[in-house]
Amino acid sequence: MAYHSKHSDVFHKHKKCVLGNNIENDNKVQGTAKKLCEHCKEIDKGKAKR
Ligand SMILES: [Zn+2]
Repeated sequence: MAYHSKHSDVFHKHKKCVLGNNIENDNKVQGTAKKLCEHCKEIDKGKAKR
């Protein structure tokens, strides 16, 4: 499921995304935002191993 930070236009779709993991729980919101995180895109392509 997608999530993003209240303070960002970028959303994440992978729980293992390191950038997504940096979002504090207080700032985490369910759903999508304007654009997909670049790191999550890499995970989609299978390029990023973690
Ligand atoms: Zn991400």
